[in-house]
Amino acid sequence: MISALMPNYNRADLAFDHGQGAWLFDMRGQRYLDFGAGIATSALGHAHPHLVQAIAGQAAKLIHVSNLYRIPQAEQLAARLVAASFADSVFFCNSGAEANEGLVKAIRKTQADAGRPERYRVICFTGAFHGRTLAMISATGNAKYLEGFGPPVEGFDHVPFNDLAAARAAIGPETAGILVEPVQGEGGVRPADPAFLRGLRALCDEHGLLLGFDEVQTGMGRSGKLFAHEWAGVTPDVMSLAKGIGGGFPLGAVLARENVAQALKPGSHGTTFGGGPLACAAGNAVLDVILADGFLDQVNETAAYLRAGLTALVARHPRIFTEVRGAGLLLGLKCAAPNGDVQATALARGLLTVAAGENVLRLAPPLIVTREECDTALALLDKTAQSLTQTTEITTP
Ligand SMILES: *Cc1c(COP(=O)(O)O)cnc(C)c1O
Repeated sequence: MISALMPNYNRADLAFDHGQGAWLFDMRGQRYLDFGAGIATSALGHAHPHLVQAIAGQAAKLIHVSNLYRIPQAEQLAARLVAASFADSVFFCNSGAEANEGLVKAIRKTQADAGRPERYRVICFTGAFHGRTLAMISATGNAKYLEGFGPPVEGFDHVPFNDLAAARAAIGPETAGILVEPVQGEGGVRPADPAFLRGLRALCDEHGLLLGFDEVQTGMGRSGKLFAHEWAGVTPDVMSLAKGIGGGFPLGAVLARENVAQALKPGSHGTTFGGGPLACAAGNAVLDVILADGFLDQVNETAAYLRAGLTALVARHPRIFTEVRGAGLLLGLKCAAPNGDVQATALARGLLTVAAGENVLRLAPPLIVTREECDTALALLDKTAQSLTQTTEITTP
């Protein structure tokens, strides 16, 4: 008989009761060091007092009112995001896929409003991940995610990641814009070359295209900057955010320059829950912490420390790990052993990680993780590699 929950996930047989900082506790009181952070989402870790208080306080006052009315919490959060970014205006929604849907609709509508309705196609990249809605599995372009769901949504062209010549060659009379992740998260923690991002910006300027950055995973301090594109010194015309922006509370956002934002006139786009008082109270509380003096410096220091430790780990265990990559606290260990085995072995030792494409083990601890916790994670990964080396020696002659 089928489970009451649909069988669309491969879940570990593990359920958590509560969390504290970078730690999760299961039903039996066993503790786990959380270097997955709910897939790079629990930016402030678990039970962060400022976030808990903001959510509890707002919930007791008002949870939902709809977008028929002004929502001061959303106005405040939008103004703060505008002040901290390239953007002039913000649309709030509830997830990463929904943010990307809004981003692509805004790109298409901006071109149409400018008298170029034939320009609706968006160039995307192999290894991308943009979400699971019908349009976003087309934007993602991964055959595995498209299979069985009928004809892909029209209007997405795919070229190799980090290949500027291929992107240039893909531009045609119907091209409206380009959508790219500054670091491909699901695709295997693959950073875009800064020169590639700058080249895409130049291509868009040259051809009248709109540049969209999917910072659903890389945004909100994950990379060590508030937004990962800051490392490359380029800005997009429009950007999607989700994951860390609500610290685990569902919240997504589309940030846009004025020329793009003005395309979304009343009636053109919307969502019932988007930008509600509760989600935006969570978003404001997360921003309070991330924008506080020295917070991102601390993220960068911890990230450099973790990265150095991982580099040493790879050198010690070349039969298990081959490379460290990523940005800030979104790090990938490219594995020589199957990444699923590494993940399962680490889990058995009490360390939570997330698998990614290209046989990569993803490490995305909460941004509040300490050096000591990084030491603990590194020690657990060392033990993981040791025990995998032993089994590899037994099974391979
Ligand atoms: C997770 C993710 C998405 C999809 O977000 P959901 O909230 O699962 O819809 C989109 N883009 C990127 C880069 C992501 O990492």
